[in-house]
Amino acid sequence: MAIPMPIADQVPARHRLSVRRALSELDWSSRALVDYPARDLWEHDTRRLPRPLASWRRHLRRFAHEHLAPGIDRFDRTEHPAAGQWRPGMRELVLRAADAGLMTDFFPSPLGSAPLARARYPVWAQTLKTEELASVCAGQMLALCAHQLGLAPMALSGDLRAMRNFVYPVLRDLHRGEPHLCAYAITEPGAGSDAEEGHGASLYRPGVVARRRHGRWHLNGRKVFISGGDVARTIAVFAALEGEGMDSWTCFIVHPHMPGFRMARLEHKMGMRACSAAELEFDDLAVPDSHVVGGLRRGWALNRATLNFSRAPVAGMAVGLARAATEIAMDFACTRRLGAHRLVDFQEVQLQLAQMVAETTAIRSMVWQQAADFTPRQAGASLCKFHATDTAQHVCEMAMDLLGGESLLHQQRIEKVFRDVRLTRIFEGTNQINRLAVIEDMQEELGRHAFQGENHSGGTHHAR
Ligand SMILES: Cc1cc2nc3c(=O)[nH]c(=O)nc-3n(C[C@H](O)[C@H](O)[C@H](O)COP(=O)(O)OP(=O)(O)OC[C@H]3O[C@@H](n4cnc5c(N)ncnc54)[C@H](O)[C@@H]3O)c2cc1C
Repeated sequence: MAIPMPIADQVPARHRLSVRRALSELDWSSRALVDYPARDLWEHDTRRLPRPLASWRRHLRRFAHEHLAPGIDRFDRTEHPAAGQWRPGMRELVLRAADAGLMTDFFPSPLGSAPLARARYPVWAQTLKTEELASVCAGQMLALCAHQLGLAPMALSGDLRAMRNFVYPVLRDLHRGEPHLCAYAITEPGAGSDAEEGHGASLYRPGVVARRRHGRWHLNGRKVFISGGDVARTIAVFAALEGEGMDSWTCFIVHPHMPGFRMARLEHKMGMRACSAAELEFDDLAVPDSHVVGGLRRGWALNRATLNFSRAPVAGMAVGLARAATEIAMDFACTRRLGAHRLVDFQEVQLQLAQMVAETTAIRSMVWQQAADFTPRQAGASLCKFHATDTAQHVCEMAMDLLGGESLLHQQRIEKVFRDVRLTRIFEGTNQINRLAVIEDMQEELGRHAFQGENHSGGTHHAR
């Protein structure tokens, strides 16, 4: 094993006063209680996971280093090709991910690729995936993981017909080596937050509307910012019924070959550039009843349920990005010299690195705790989404402070990590909307406080 380089103002690991040496020299009975092996934090955390998740995390890390690392710069710096065309290398990446069980893991085997023991942790398994993949390349992570978002409303609908007609063909194609991707389309030019939050939705006039004509639903309108919407073959599109509000939202399955579908344009994005954001246009797109998921007017509930499942995984992306920023800062501090000393030899830098490790560990603990539930709660999902993503951006800024001018250079990965982390604070509901979602979910609890408060002030008033 390599002997660690001594760091200034710290006793070396082999010094008689170092904690490692001191503990290792105790009697065996005491050592059994207080001594611990020298493991890095990743390994330590992984060993604390339930066994099926620990092996999943190891698998994900191997996959990310083997298959995502080589494409980081290529996908980040090249433009998207014309509509409907794959970026060079992306199709192959999707197939490798499918082969490794990363595109069908929302479903237990034999339908999907999640072993039954892991299927007990549907959200936790997804947060581990987003963390591991985002820690290497958040753009490629989104290109792979937006697909699960497209599958989620069908999976959560309990609609066996939708499972048979739409989910099964996707999983079958992916198992066979065909890159059949899904996308999730709720955002409209006039509604991002209003598609994710009840109060805004109650005031919003729906932009994508389904009209009943000749026994079919005809969709008109536009959806924007749809991740992977240019290459997806199955798209969950949410639309209101003609003349009704957002409470009539219905989830329709749309395929790009249907007449009336147009991929209008792709955005020129700041971060997560490996994944496209597409504007989709529906011009009298006729959809049969068999393409309705979970029944008419069930779309709002399915959308909110999907967001409850997907917000902790977004927090997982933030953990991965905070970890990447911390690792970049550590590498830089250990190699960059200021005069005769490396940066890491300054105690101020050690304090900063410790803070970054602590912040990253804190958000990971929070995310893992919330993600452990089989059924996610809105308050828990939203609070870990906004807190983890805000904290991760702060960690990235600390890393950039440490790298100084170098942090702005493209060849330093922190510049990309910073662009990527910014998006985690916007999608799946802005962080403001997620804060409001916590309060929405706590209304009964807050109501009890209000009631007690009224009684209390009533009592005080009476005593006076
Ligand atoms: C990279 C990327 C990928 C995306 N992928 C998808 C996807 O796959 N599918 C999809 O459907 N959508 C997707 N989106 C859309 C995303 O979810 C929305 O951009 C997001 O919800 C914000 O909506 P908006 O941009 O319309 O902002 P707006 O809703 O217009 O909000 C503007 C500002 O007003 C604030 N605000 C709004 N309402 C309130 C309120 N009541 N109280 C306080 N503040 C408020 C917001 O917090 C924000 O600061 C993606 C977006 C991005 C950037």
